[in-house]
Amino acid sequence: MAAHLVVLSGPSGVGKSSVIAEALKDLPTTWLSVSVTTRDPRPGEVDGQTYFYVTQERFDQMIAQNELLEWAEYAGNRYGTPRDHVAERLANNIPVLLEIEVQGAMQVRESMPEAVLVFVQPPTWEDLEARLTGRGTESDEQVLARLRMALQEIEAAKDFDHVIVNDDVAQAAHELVSYLS
Ligand code: 5GP
Repeated sequence: MAAHLVVLSGPSGVGKSSVIAEALKDLPTTWLSVSVTTRDPRPGEVDGQTYFYVTQERFDQMIAQNELLEWAEYAGNRYGTPRDHVAERLANNIPVLLEIEVQGAMQVRESMPEAVLVFVQPPTWEDLEARLTGRGTESDEQVLARLRMALQEIEAAKDFDHVIVNDDVAQAAHELVSYLS
């Protein structure tokens, strides 16, 4: 079986990480890509595990040297997927999961049309607002920026291969597993 590349997107606060954590329990061989970002680590985040935290200069260099499979600016910070890490896994038949925002997902579709694009929707807009405000990891300004991005992202859901509504994490994870199996 050819190794899969699945891209998971969805607005900030929709619970992508929880769905992924649950799904990975059933997918022991799937590798979750670790992105590079110019944003500061949040408390509890670990360099090399949650993200590779890099300077603006290093990020510029990675773009110039074509080291990124895709990258995007999101709410004032830049994020990208190291190309080699993904290529290496796929070459070894290891299924790969990317958790990235919508602009990046569209770039992956362009360069790797075999990728399966999955979008996670909140059950309602109010639910997303409540989750994003309630988690307390961002400033009010950041929450507003992320809600503005969410409006555009939800609009892009129609361009994805599959949409999962996250009103139940276990069910949403189950659906994600089916796209990676
Ligand atoms: P956060 O700052 O909340 O960790 O991430 C903000 C957004 O950036 C999320 O939607 C997340 O999926 C996205 N993101 C994380 N890594 C990447 C990446 O490598 N590329 C792109 N395009 N988006 C990413």
